[in-house]
Amino acid sequence: MGNPITPLNYKLSLDVDMKYFRYFGEETITIELKEPTDKIILNSVGLEITRCKITANGDTITPKHQLDKEKEELVLQFEKKIEVGSHELYISFEGQLLDGLAGFYKSKNITKDGEIKYIATTQFEPADARRCFPCFDAPDMKAVFEISITADKKFEVISNMPALETTSIDKARQTVRFQQTPKMSTYLVYFGIGEFEYSEDKYKGIAVRFVCTKGKKKFGAFAIDCTKKFLEYYENYFGVPYPLPKIDLIALPDFSSGAMENWGAITFREAGLIYDAKNTSTVRKQYIAEVVAHELAHMWFGNLVTMKWWNDLWLNESFATWMAIKVVAHHYPEWEFWNQFLSGDTASALALDSLGTSHPIDADVKTPHEVNEIFDKISYDKGASLLRMLETFLGEEVFRSGLQKYISTHKYSNTTAGDLWAALEDCSKIPVAKIMDSWLKQTGYPIIDVKLEGQKLVLSQKRFLLEQNKDDKGIWEIPMTIVTDYGEEISVLMEEKKKEIKLKQKANWVKLNHGQAGFYRAKYDKKVLEALKTQIKEKKLGVQDRWGLQNDLWAAAKACEIPASEYFDFISAYESDDEFIICQDIAGRLAGIYNMAHGRLQESAKKHGIEYCSKIFAGIGWEKKKKEKENTAILRSQMISALGLFGEKSVLSDGLKRFEAFMKDGALNPDLRGAVYSLVALQGDSKTYEIFTGLFEKEEQVEEKLRFLGVLGRFRQKELVQKALDYSLSSAVRSQDLFYITGRVGANRHAIDLLWPWIKNNFTELKKRFGEGHSVSLLGHIIEDLDGLTRLEDEKDIKAFFERNKVDGIAMKLAQLLETIRINHRFLEKNDGVRP
Ligand SMILES: [Zn+2]
Repeated sequence: MGNPITPLNYKLSLDVDMKYFRYFGEETITIELKEPTDKIILNSVGLEITRCKITANGDTITPKHQLDKEKEELVLQFEKKIEVGSHELYISFEGQLLDGLAGFYKSKNITKDGEIKYIATTQFEPADARRCFPCFDAPDMKAVFEISITADKKFEVISNMPALETTSIDKARQTVRFQQTPKMSTYLVYFGIGEFEYSEDKYKGIAVRFVCTKGKKKFGAFAIDCTKKFLEYYENYFGVPYPLPKIDLIALPDFSSGAMENWGAITFREAGLIYDAKNTSTVRKQYIAEVVAHELAHMWFGNLVTMKWWNDLWLNESFATWMAIKVVAHHYPEWEFWNQFLSGDTASALALDSLGTSHPIDADVKTPHEVNEIFDKISYDKGASLLRMLETFLGEEVFRSGLQKYISTHKYSNTTAGDLWAALEDCSKIPVAKIMDSWLKQTGYPIIDVKLEGQKLVLSQKRFLLEQNKDDKGIWEIPMTIVTDYGEEISVLMEEKKKEIKLKQKANWVKLNHGQAGFYRAKYDKKVLEALKTQIKEKKLGVQDRWGLQNDLWAAAKACEIPASEYFDFISAYESDDEFIICQDIAGRLAGIYNMAHGRLQESAKKHGIEYCSKIFAGIGWEKKKKEKENTAILRSQMISALGLFGEKSVLSDGLKRFEAFMKDGALNPDLRGAVYSLVALQGDSKTYEIFTGLFEKEEQVEEKLRFLGVLGRFRQKELVQKALDYSLSSAVRSQDLFYITGRVGANRHAIDLLWPWIKNNFTELKKRFGEGHSVSLLGHIIEDLDGLTRLEDEKDIKAFFERNKVDGIAMKLAQLLETIRINHRFLEKNDGVRP
């Protein structure tokens, strides 16, 4: 936006000492100056700047330089103005490999023989490239990068592009110079140094590599296979070929998020990439496919075309989330990914967005802290759900041609949401921007009140909020398809507060939001709901519609508009419904209520939970059947876990037997392991606890290791859970994995009370680990783990604590937590579930 300085090219060299974890860097940035200036401001934080100069029109001028720690800026002040034109800015600097999980950081890996090996790796999104080298660190300051890295010869060195040449410096050290990157944003730059190994394949002429620490390359085949398939799909879908000559999938032992789309060098947590046919569960396999698909979608959406500023982060993330579902659903239809998208992504976005403390998708963010806060379910899952709604409304082909137009028009540059709407309007002739603005600029979503009187259908909308004392104004432009009992399908755009529709004939029921394609809820009167209940029982409605009816009704119960008992009555209609997402949703909800509630409500959740899950489980059993759907394996383990939680005796004792057998011969289906371990912990004692910590410390396969870790938070005895919490901060547990314990404790009705005092007592340590850069999102995770709390005393105490101990970058998460606790409290109070 009128920036007088444009970076064009970075020649960046780093000389990295992996023994002392220091590096020397120098860079020459070619900049284009559009106005004369005596001041140049770059971003930099935590680096020592040793020299700066500019070569402009044949003169070399040395500025005064100053670091502004607060603003994370390096200010170069020149004595006189530098003229317009293209100039070379030289900066040398020194830095340290960081301990956190952001910037240029070190990751520790211990080999089988107990040897410690270090990896140096980067995570720059959103605003941490500046922690590694001084740069113009904004997504629209795109440039090309020529990167050289000097390190010991024993290390493999990786960057976005393939190596161009390697020059030996002495016996021990060498410099790897990489090919020039395409024009791209700083947050996508990558370097990795480590004793990596890799397996390699090719898609067309593109080298596809799975990169990992030693001994793991045999686990890369599935990720590589997905990559080849998905690249082909995306090239066809977008009509633009993948523009780099290689793509690395890098599995890292320490990593803050799930994965990061560095162009040509995608980084993952090991658990998001490593697939071992013998030991990986179905749910993990699906996750790997989805994460790979998500990151690959970014190669186009995000990397080739990038948002101008982080307020449009959702453009990247919603799109990659939606696209990943599309590509995986295409290649693995048996996984029913669109259904899973609904019960996972859309449902969790609807839940978060029904808080008064949610935020609009198009968020007003300025500082890096504010940017870090919006990597959440709104930017990813709500946005993705809106894209599904829009695609359904415009039609698949029109939507795709709009996207193709958008990508080809804006490649290698930056955009806002408006550019996407313009391309879609062009192809659809529908005022997309106007419709979507109502969803992007407003927080929340509508609930539609449905009144049916014979042929007259009256719809009215207002914002849906769980805490009703908040503002419920707002009008959304809602594309919707309504189905009727006599078979008519009505597609309309509801643009007004209230809409009347005349049906072709008298109807006993209508169902809004056909296919649950829209991001809204519906509320029916008793008569219509009864009629719909019959349709559910007889399975005359599709699975998504059946899922949606109970999900909306549950939201009404959580908002205390109806008693919880009404929801319990309603789900009797699903008794013989064995659809994956329906069973998953209902069982999960009953378990959730049981965990949180006391007294009558808890008894009721338990009774319904045992009845419901036993019936579903009776049809599935412990053993995998021939020709069963792959998702049944996931459902089986969920039913077993839920029944164990409700205290169902036969499942609990079967779990013990299976564990005993497993301890003897190691045989246990990977899909059952998590569930069986939790059954054992529920009945275990301090001896069992020791067994699990022993297994955790010995285990090398990452998914299994994390199962052993997580189960430590599931014991009933408070002293064991306390021990587990303390253990999560020990050197045996990687910082990034701490949440496997806090998350389980937060969902453990016997021990959730321990979590908040523990956070308070260890806050200095937690802040030290997660207080800097993008790592703060991990601190946000711990805060979220408290969302099962129900007491107003806790709400007050948490609020007061953070007033005394301010942390930038978690304000929104905190406000959402406090609101959630109040909502939980009210729900229990109204439904006879408060703790005595
Ligand atoms: Zn993403």
